[in-house]
Amino acid sequence: MAITEAIKALKIDFPSDQLVLGGSAEFDKLNSSYLSLLQSELEPAAIFLPRSKDEVAKFVSVIKPFALNSDARFAIRGAGQQPVPGCSNIAGNGITIDLRFLTGIELKDGVVSIGAGERWGPVYEKLSEQGLGVTGSRSALGGIGGLALAGGLSFFSSREGFICDNVVNYELVLSTGDVVNANATENADLWRALRGGGNNFGIVTRYDLKTFKQGPFWGGAVFYFPPSFPGQVQAYCDELNKPDASKETHIMVSQGFSGVFADLGGHFCMNQLYYTREVEKPAVLEPFGNVQPQIDPMNSMRMLTLKDAANEQAQQSSNGVRCAYMNTTVKADAATLIAASDIFTAAFQPLKSLEGLTCAFTLQAYPVSLLKKCDNSLGLDAAIGPLVSILLLNWWKNKVDDDLVIKSFKNVLEEIDKDAASRGTAVPYKYMNYAYDFQDPITSYGIEFHKKLREVSKTYDAEGLFQKGLPGGFKLFL
Ligand SMILES: Cc1cc2nc3c(=O)[nH]c(=O)nc-3n(C[C@H](O)[C@H](O)[C@H](O)COP(=O)(O)OP(=O)(O)OC[C@H]3O[C@@H](n4cnc5c(N)ncnc54)[C@H](O)[C@@H]3O)c2cc1C
Repeated sequence: MAITEAIKALKIDFPSDQLVLGGSAEFDKLNSSYLSLLQSELEPAAIFLPRSKDEVAKFVSVIKPFALNSDARFAIRGAGQQPVPGCSNIAGNGITIDLRFLTGIELKDGVVSIGAGERWGPVYEKLSEQGLGVTGSRSALGGIGGLALAGGLSFFSSREGFICDNVVNYELVLSTGDVVNANATENADLWRALRGGGNNFGIVTRYDLKTFKQGPFWGGAVFYFPPSFPGQVQAYCDELNKPDASKETHIMVSQGFSGVFADLGGHFCMNQLYYTREVEKPAVLEPFGNVQPQIDPMNSMRMLTLKDAANEQAQQSSNGVRCAYMNTTVKADAATLIAASDIFTAAFQPLKSLEGLTCAFTLQAYPVSLLKKCDNSLGLDAAIGPLVSILLLNWWKNKVDDDLVIKSFKNVLEEIDKDAASRGTAVPYKYMNYAYDFQDPITSYGIEFHKKLREVSKTYDAEGLFQKGLPGGFKLFL
């Protein structure tokens, strides 16, 4: 079998503790450490753990003939926090390259260089010692790759742009096995393609991001009740549509259902609010922080460091759960968003009795200030802003409910898109990291950007190793 031959070939160069075979306790430990159980249920034949970029390059050279000519393919894993099955793991005859040991965080001349196996938490810790910040995941547990290759929203997005727009250099292994840099002056077409192009071009081994001065900031969460939700959505859109909308706010407005809120009938509303300067109770957040009535003991608004804020977000998720994320984007129009919220609310009613069901409808803004900073492949333009991303997050307990949950919320998205189209507020863009497998984020970037990404792929990966040989994630050539 090809996979047996591929493993045999890798064993020549790598010891057994770096090539962990299925069936061992170590394998089970590694493979069960994904955010989503749906990813852990895909068991590869082996997990490869490189310790340097040269080992990644060696792996690519060895696996390439197998991956191009047989079913012995591979997957790339960062921190394994993206839930769509198969994006960072592979079933059966494949090998998952898990980058967790490519660590290291170095700060030089205002640029932080981060090993591809790091998570954002330690990066924030290191930078805060110097009074600096960086655009990264709001969760300390998030991997670097998923965010820096897909777009990515941070606490500072309104002011600093998408996470990918702050990557000044990607160091990566190409399909040729060469290690190259992609930045504004070297392989600039590849650099721009990586800013939104996901895992389609190579295995990134290091990310260099610009930093900025950052002190503590005001933020936290506020919980309240469904009758106030439409008013909150209206206030959100009013703020976003102001010509002088604040560049310092980062606001997420959510509602959803969870057994945790059984005393309240399960239906909850939550605002996550940040003002990214050291200002207590800034006026711009008042309509969202002071919503009444609210669940006072759950109000966590306070002065935070970046590390505190990211740790707080990390506590909201745990590994090894059945979950699915899916998303769409619309203009920042309150009527569209309120209608979308009604579609969501109606859809979860018949699912409330499913064991362990938690579902959320989360709005995240792409303000004009963020869109103006776009220098990437996402196909977004300030002229169509402000926009709002609608994220549907679903968790549930039992495998038998997978299809029902996924189909139900897929229908919700389709209805939302249809309704938005009828209002003239629909936007094609789908965020790769929140997309489920029935979605096609790369096509959503638009024909021109898609074409450009395909051209870059042909330049740097003529044989299509990262298309055919790496089937998971969202591909350029479907
Ligand atoms: C609690 C939580 C908080 C979140 N917060 C945010 C947030 O603040 N902002 C936001 O935008 N999103 C957020 N997300 C979504 C997040 O962006 C994705 O889950 C992201 O993909 C995680 O990155 P990862 O490296 O852990 O993912 P993985 O699952 O490891 O990988 C995701 C994709 O990237 C590819 N990839 C990873 N590393 C590399 C590499 N080195 N080279 C090539 N390809 C690579 C993989 O092949 C895969 O296709 C959050 C998710 C969770 C669970």
